Amino acid sequence: MSSYFRPSIEAMTGYIPGEQPKPGTPIIKLNTNENPYPPSPAAMQALQSIDAEQLRRYPHPFANDFRQAISEVLDLPLDWIIVGNGSDEILNVIIRACAEQQRPVVYPTPTYVLYKTLAAMQPADLIEIPYGENYQLPIEALIAANGAVTFIASPNSPSGHSVDNAALRQLASRLNGLLVIDEAYVDFAESSALSLVQDCPNVIISRTLSKGYSLAGLRLGFGIAQPELLSGLFKVKDSYNIDAIACAVGSAAMRDQDYKTLCSERVKASRAKLAVDLKQLGFQVPHSQTNFLFVTSPKGHAEALYLGLKECGILVRYFNQPGLDDKLRITVGTDTQNQSLLEALIHLV
Ligand SMILES: *Cc1c(COP(=O)(O)O)cnc(C)c1O
Repeated sequence: MSSYFRPSIEAMTGYIPGEQPKPGTPIIKLNTNENPYPPSPAAMQALQSIDAEQLRRYPHPFANDFRQAISEVLDLPLDWIIVGNGSDEILNVIIRACAEQQRPVVYPTPTYVLYKTLAAMQPADLIEIPYGENYQLPIEALIAANGAVTFIASPNSPSGHSVDNAALRQLASRLNGLLVIDEAYVDFAESSALSLVQDCPNVIISRTLSKGYSLAGLRLGFGIAQPELLSGLFKVKDSYNIDAIACAVGSAAMRDQDYKTLCSERVKASRAKLAVDLKQLGFQVPHSQTNFLFVTSPKGHAEALYLGLKECGILVRYFNQPGLDDKLRITVGTDTQNQSLLEALIHLV
């Protein structure tokens, strides 16, 4: 029987997002790395102030108010910034613009699963290279793979580690294709690779308001690169990819850096405390540069822990795949949420 779909779409598995229970369900949601704190009051004020005229008209095609806010905060020219409907759209546009068969997508694993999904739908060749011992970046293999696009999530999910800038710089200088540094978790990290875009014409940094700014529901992200790199991406993105509401709310959130810093400092303090408490329960807890911990269960039975926690109304992320199936990825919640998690775990480990 013939199919409605291209063979690559027929063959691929769709991206499976983390479970999203209905709002109002009494659940402690530590599975998709949302920020436990509400968005900035200034952002909520901007939402209240949306008027009919803003909705009647098409939005600005490049979300210039939001770009302006980013430009002020990061001290970058406007034309070094592209805005996306979530950073997922930035990743999607990069693949659509650059990758196909014979022009591979390359990344070290384990990492964000969406890269694979996006490559499959293009379709683009895919080369996955496992991280070395202690998440050593496999630089030579990444270079040899000669990707049209190489993705490095730094800090990475699910591992929580960061790749140092010297390694990223070396990679960028030796790659022919694009190097995408996915900084979705940068707001919880000790450093950033932002300075690389000045010297490396093939580097694009992608960031999101979903994690650090508590705005996962708004769908807003952005990319930073030299204008020549962005010019190809602007051709590919939807002409009105950012709606007027997201642009207004996101601009206010971006300008309220004090609030974002306050929330991420809280998350980092809770992360440190939760790491100590989980170690006390026998978990291995590697250092995290993100708003989650990727912990190894003392007895290897991570799926049982995941299911046991779910029974208690606590969702965490379990990856049913070799190398990851003795681990849980646990989003750092408020101290109260983390305490509930620990109390449930005491009975399960
Ligand atoms: C959450 C996440 C994203 C997606 O961010 P959105 O802006 O919500 O699309 C991108 N990359 C990584 C590694 C993430 O964990």
